Amino acid sequence: MTGSVTILGSGSALPTFQNSPSGQMLHLNDKSFLIDCGEGVQLTMRQMGLKTARLYSVFISHLHGDHCFGLIGLISTLSMMKRTQPLHVYAHKDLQKLLHPLIDYHCGDMMSFEVVFHPISPRKQAVIFEDRNVTVETIPLKHKVPTCGFLFTEKGQRRYAYISDTMYSPKIIPQIEGVDLLYHESTYTDEHEARCKATTHSTARQAAMIARDAQVKNLLIGHFSARVDDHRQFLHEALEVFPDTRLAEERKTFEF
Ligand SMILES: [Zn+2]
Ligand SMILES: [Zn+2]
Repeated sequence: MTGSVTILGSGSALPTFQNSPSGQMLHLNDKSFLIDCGEGVQLTMRQMGLKTARLYSVFISHLHGDHCFGLIGLISTLSMMKRTQPLHVYAHKDLQKLLHPLIDYHCGDMMSFEVVFHPISPRKQAVIFEDRNVTVETIPLKHKVPTCGFLFTEKGQRRYAYISDTMYSPKIIPQIEGVDLLYHESTYTDEHEARCKATTHSTARQAAMIARDAQVKNLLIGHFSARVDDHRQFLHEALEVFPDTRLAEERKTFEF
């Protein structure tokens, strides 16, 4: 039994030469789960040779473009590749309204598989997926638009928490207490604290405070702002608070 997460994008809204917008592939047992799907995610998946055959579902944390603009491209590609198994998409209900006309327009009669849409309420903590081995629950977050993180629990084993865009929110601590791996957004460094607050994001230090107070085993930080060139500054500030921190570098896989 192993768990790992591959980082496909760890930038924020403005893509840079260093980073693409958010996307991660979580592998638990024999299943793969895509978490967020910013622009460029499918390209990185292909470049890394990640197979989509075991991709069963996609979880979208919120509807800012840097977390969902890649989904229509991915769906179109999967259809061109003649996928037949359904793809389950878990997201705020508005995504269905936005996505279905695009699927109809671009894929239309050629669509080779069904996209099964599961509307979620990001403001409520709820179990949204469960099978024999894994449960997924939402973690309500504080951001400009309805946003949630996701807690993946392998029954009796590992736990992975994905904390998407949010301002510092200690409310989430009881839900993520002691997880094996926590990904927490870390958009800014201390220097940009005022901007961080105004845009409802977290600093690296705040992400580390959440990790420390929730006593998680390891912390990954990402969603780096284009305003900070040297990512070592994020790491440096987080490490002052929580020693088991790593940068969510793209194309790297982290086991837990
Ligand atoms: Zn974002
Ligand atoms: Zn956002």
